[in-house]
Amino acid sequence: VYVDILENQVQLIDDNMHLRAQSLEDPLLGIGNRRAMEGDLVRVVANTRRAGQRFAITLFDLDFFKAFNDHYGHVKGDTALKQVVNTMVESMRHGDSLYRYGGEELLLLMPNTDGGGAILAAERIRESVIRLALQHAKSPHGILTISGGIASEDFMTQDQLIAAADKALYFAKSLGRNRIASYQHTN
Ligand code: GH3
Ligand code: MG
Ligand code: MG
Repeated sequence: VYVDILENQVQLIDDNMHLRAQSLEDPLLGIGNRRAMEGDLVRVVANTRRAGQRFAITLFDLDFFKAFNDHYGHVKGDTALKQVVNTMVESMRHGDSLYRYGGEELLLLMPNTDGGGAILAAERIRESVIRLALQHAKSPHGILTISGGIASEDFMTQDQLIAAADKALYFAKSLGRNRIASYQHTN
């Protein structure tokens, strides 16, 4: 009987850990969700401050993805989104993490990274999606592409940092998409 109870306990603990991991993961894309991102970001900010280092984020967004869905259908849209994210994850540097921020928006967290390093990493990811070369008949680029906005000012709050990355992303979009832009803080 005792063994039975113990085994049940172990099973419960196991299930619990499994549920906990699931609640931090996006089921479609298999990467961290927004909740995971928020927790990790708080930890990275704290560690960075303590160590006197820098870190950066890039907010990526698929270009003309509504048109992709409208043209190819939502199921193909899901598949394409998965393929893009898998490619992004493969071309990420060790130590960086990618999260689904929302819809077709992905946030890359880059600990121990300055502005220059962030541009290199983000550009490499953008180029990997070009090499994937998923046909997109309704994009002026002819293939599915991504844009990214970088923010790396370590004195910002979490919300300010994401807002800055979002501004940079908006700028990258306005320049024609399929590009990376950085938020520059002006004193
Ligand atoms: P932009 O280049 O300015 O980003 O244009 P866009 O069309 O990508 O931007 P918009 O925000 O208008 O559209 C985002 C689209 O992404 C609309 C939404 O249906 C689609 N989308 C978001 N999440 C998913 C998903 O999980 N699966 C699919 N298939 N589509 C998604
Ligand atoms: Mg988009
Ligand atoms: Mg979007």
